[in-house]
Amino acid sequence: MTEQPRIAIVGAGLAGCLLATLLARRGLEVTVYERRDDPRRTGPERGRSINLAVSARGLDALERVGLREESLGRALPMHGRMIHSVAGAESFRSYSADGTRAINSISRAELNASLLDVAEKTPGVTLQFGYRLRELNLDTGQLSFETLDGHRRRPHADIVLASDGSYSAARRAVTFRQDFTFSQDYLDAGYKELTIPAKADGEFALDPDALHIWPRGESMMIALPNLDRSFTCTLFWPKADFAELETDAQIRDYFARNYPDAAPLMPDLVDDFRHNPVGSLVTVKCWPWVHRGERVTLALVGDAAHAIVPFFGQGANCALEDCVEIDRCLDEAGGDWQRALDTYEVRRKANCDAIAEMALDNFVEMRERVNSKVFQAKTAAQHALERRLPGHYVSRYELVSFTTMPYAQIPDRMRKQNRATATAAGLGVGVVAGGSVVARAMWRRRRRR
Ligand SMILES: Cc1cc2nc3c(=O)[nH]c(=O)nc-3n(C[C@H](O)[C@H](O)[C@H](O)COP(=O)(O)OP(=O)(O)OC[C@H]3O[C@@H](n4cnc5c(N)ncnc54)[C@H](O)[C@@H]3O)c2cc1C
Repeated sequence: MTEQPRIAIVGAGLAGCLLATLLARRGLEVTVYERRDDPRRTGPERGRSINLAVSARGLDALERVGLREESLGRALPMHGRMIHSVAGAESFRSYSADGTRAINSISRAELNASLLDVAEKTPGVTLQFGYRLRELNLDTGQLSFETLDGHRRRPHADIVLASDGSYSAARRAVTFRQDFTFSQDYLDAGYKELTIPAKADGEFALDPDALHIWPRGESMMIALPNLDRSFTCTLFWPKADFAELETDAQIRDYFARNYPDAAPLMPDLVDDFRHNPVGSLVTVKCWPWVHRGERVTLALVGDAAHAIVPFFGQGANCALEDCVEIDRCLDEAGGDWQRALDTYEVRRKANCDAIAEMALDNFVEMRERVNSKVFQAKTAAQHALERRLPGHYVSRYELVSFTTMPYAQIPDRMRKQNRATATAAGLGVGVVAGGSVVARAMWRRRRRR
């Protein structure tokens, strides 16, 4: 490989743009190939999630390219969940014990546009729009793109970083390689987006400070606020259920019975329901993420390496964290790509597997468990513990959303905390009153280790 490798990034989504900027800031020349036309001119694709919840990990990554404050300035904080019952009643549950922490509803298109702007302004980055990767030859290092006007372009690269999403075309170059393990697990549930517009007086139709959930057992609807004072609602239903509502009357009747408080706020319900696509929810796992051919090294990044279901609001946060890790590994390896990428995949794999499992579990929590009295009591007790033992007891939600603790450490941390809590309970001490006993139990356990 030459001293300055030719670097190709496939996909100018959230991860691709951030990675391009971070690498170019290291003095490297990077070309980013994106299959779409420039999304800043063409707008978002219909039915592709309009907004995203961005939290600590995403913000930490954005801060590194000077986009944290700008992104927060265009975001709506959501301090908790608003649960909507079938009877139409609302109950608010804050995300953090002290009620001050929030996840942030951000327009995906705006965030992508900001990241594109920053990448474009960074010397060393070249953006190529309308380039759809068709083939990657790992032996020659040749990439074959089909352009929007039907031509073929065949550039070469030494390093290919594939950030082309869950259905990655670059990943196909290694799918049938020996020793490549790959799985894609689809949920029976699919998703469809609907809209609650601003009210006639221009105000939000629901409380904008919450992520709204209509938990219905096997299915649910959620809604996140947008800056134009509308809400984007997403139905997560068993796929077969979407097809069961055939007539306009059936759609209206179903929503009136199951989402009685939301249905009157959706003037375009029937049109949205009929025309917005049903998306799939997939978990992709594969290994290894780094592949070497005779002339090129390929590394998978973001959803291309580890697509997860969206129920913890972490897919994008996690993809952005990958880019930060690659940058960090390059630092540690003194710019040696081979060492850096080997470290990157090892460090990230266990973390991404961990968040994939937590995201699946959170689907059950959101659609079902939030309705249970036991779950509500447990959350209240956890918050009480957090207030009494700041820093010692932290809920899983907070560790995932409000810290950058490696995901893989979180399940273990929860187990230890829960054991300590159980110890306190075994001593006959009420959870709320027993803060100091729990603290002592945890301290003793730490000393034994
Ligand atoms: C319904 C839903 C809700 C979600 N909500 C959240 C949330 O609240 N919070 C959160 O953190 N995450 C959320 N996610 C997950 C998040 O969208 C993804 O994890 C994130 O977008 C991954 O970023 P990425 O850059 O790896 O891939 P992508 O964002 O998918 O970007 C891939 C890019 O590659 C381009 N591309 C694809 N194929 C080719 C090709 N052949 N050649 C060239 N370019 C190509 C695409 O056009 C795209 O620009 C949600 C996902 C869904 C489906």
